This record gives sequence, structure tokens and C-alpha cells, in this order.
Amino acid sequence: MPQASAYAIDGPTGRFSRTTIERREPGPTEVLFDVAYAGICHSDIHTARGEWGPTTYPLVPGHEIAGVVREVGTDVTRFAVGDRVGVGCFVDSCGECEQCRAGDEQFCDGPGGTIWTYNAIGRDGVPTAGGYSTCFTVEQDYLCRIPSSIELANAAPLMCAGITLYSPLKRWGAGPGKRVAIVGMGGLGHMGVQIAAAFGAEVAVISQTRSKEADGRRFGATEYYALSEPGTVKGLRKSFDLIISTVSGDQNLNSLLGCLRTGGALVDVGLPEHPVQLSLGALVGQRRILAGSQIGGIAETQEMLDFCAAHGLAAQVEVIGGEDINDAYDRVVASDVRYRFVIDTATF
Ligand SMILES: [Zn+2]
Ligand SMILES: [Zn+2]
Repeated sequence: MPQASAYAIDGPTGRFSRTTIERREPGPTEVLFDVAYAGICHSDIHTARGEWGPTTYPLVPGHEIAGVVREVGTDVTRFAVGDRVGVGCFVDSCGECEQCRAGDEQFCDGPGGTIWTYNAIGRDGVPTAGGYSTCFTVEQDYLCRIPSSIELANAAPLMCAGITLYSPLKRWGAGPGKRVAIVGMGGLGHMGVQIAAAFGAEVAVISQTRSKEADGRRFGATEYYALSEPGTVKGLRKSFDLIISTVSGDQNLNSLLGCLRTGGALVDVGLPEHPVQLSLGALVGQRRILAGSQIGGIAETQEMLDFCAAHGLAAQVEVIGGEDINDAYDRVVASDVRYRFVIDTATF
């Protein structure tokens, strides 16, 4: 069995330490690849700290994974040794239900549902382990190809942050003539600004402060607003066709709804720990839409990667070593990262 060096956490208040895990020998249609980089997503932190319900420990998180193929199974047709590849938030699904057939494997209705990259049980009956590890075995249908123009470190966060923004921006019609606001300038938001601008929309950032304004404008925003400044929300009343909220902490959805034009849509992709208060008058009164979105299917993820390559987009990252994961978690929670930490597995 292929052995992987990995970083695991042993409980909700634990710390990450180095360990060794086993990966499957690749089956006939599976691919074994060497992980080069794994991004740190806020979801990793919520799961590692047990904030989203039960977590199975020890946990190896990581669902923003980029690497290079080491070995392919006998029947693999889509990938070859040496290919640059990525894995995102899930590694399996039934492949037969309505959602899977529509390319929305992230909403699989099959008996086992969508098999998440970590904190789930894989097809071999073994708990899944994520990308904070040096190698990874996956079915070829759940693997994406990373275009050669995107560095692996900058590509890893696209596998969650990139697709999480690309999918709703596309579905809800971000494009020429549309005013789009991205709420939050973190790992998700900084991809949202770039992608919305590349779609041709007029892009605004709504952030807590102006500390990231120069970056936001460099990523393609033409307007930048700080919620910490009094009167900001009032001044944006009925301003946007589409608002994507990436905030995973507590937020005031009623204020954001008021910033939508008549018939506009607010799409939430953040998952706060606590329920939010919603005043339905803000929806009903202006025929507004409140929607959610969760990553995207494999085909759409590949489409996003190709789109990013064609438009010169990628994640801006801070590369860290395995020993730095504990500190990095605290810095992500404090919004002190520009804009994604990626772990270099060569340091394991
Ligand atoms: Zn994620
Ligand atoms: Zn399915």
C-alpha cells in the first residue's frame, strides 16, 4: 500500500502533528498522484474543530489539492503519469442518480450520497483522508486536469474557492451590464472578484474594512465599500443585480437584501455556525431572491480551471510548511491571510 506522510488533528481542541497514513493501491480506474500543495479552506477549520457536527478523528483535512500523477490503474484512459491534476471537495458519488447525471455530483441522491474528501467513508469502507498528505488515490472521474499555465500552488485553492464562486456567478448571470457585489475579501471573495470581472460584470467588494482595497481593485473591482464605515449599507440601497456572500461568520442578511435591485439575487456560499435572522419583507417587497450554492460538479470544476487559465486568473497564496498549520488556522480565523494558505507537502 502506498504510504503518505500527513498532518492530522486528534480532537476538536487538538493540534496538528505529523503522522503516516496508507492510501489504496490504485484500482483499474483509479489514479495515484503525489500531492504538491493543499490549500487551507475555512471548512477544514470548521470540521477540524468540530463546529459542523460530528468529526471522526484523527482527521486529515484538505480539499484543495494539486499534484502530479504517479501511477494509473490498468483501465485509466483520461490521465497519464506526469499529468498535473487536482481534487476538490468530493471523491465519489453514485454516478447514476438525477443529480449525478446532471453533473451535480455534489448533491448526489444515491445511497451513499456525495463522498467528501475527508470526514467521510470511502468506497473501500475506510475513512477518507484529505490533502494534507503526500499522496492520494482517487477514481479518475473525480479528478480534474490543471492547465499548464497555472502554478500548482496557485491552482490548489481553485478546487474549492474557485468553483464555489464560479458556479453561482455563472448560474446567476454575472456578465456585461450586471452589477455584482462580492461580500468578504477572503479566499473565496478574492476569487469571486477576479471571476466576476472576467465574466464582464461591474464588480464591487463589500468588506469589513478598506485594508484590502488596493488588492480588490487589482483583482478587478471598480468599487469598494467598508461595512465599518457608517452609512455604507444605506448608501448601497437597491444597487446590485447579484450579491454573493462568502461570509462564514455572523452576518446581517437583511441589510444585504436591501442592497439588491428589484428582482436581484443574494446567493450565500458561506456556512456560519449559527442560524441567521431573516426579515421576509426585504424579499417579498422587491421580488428578491435568496439562494444558496455549494461548490460545483466535476465538469463545471474543469470548466472553471480552463476559464481561469484562459483569463490568467489564479489564487493569490501564502505557501507554508506542515509545521505552520496550527498557526495558519488561527490566522485564517482572524482574516490574516492574503488570500489562501497552501501547504507545501515537500516540507512533510
Ligand atoms: Zn473549501
Ligand atoms: Zn448520485
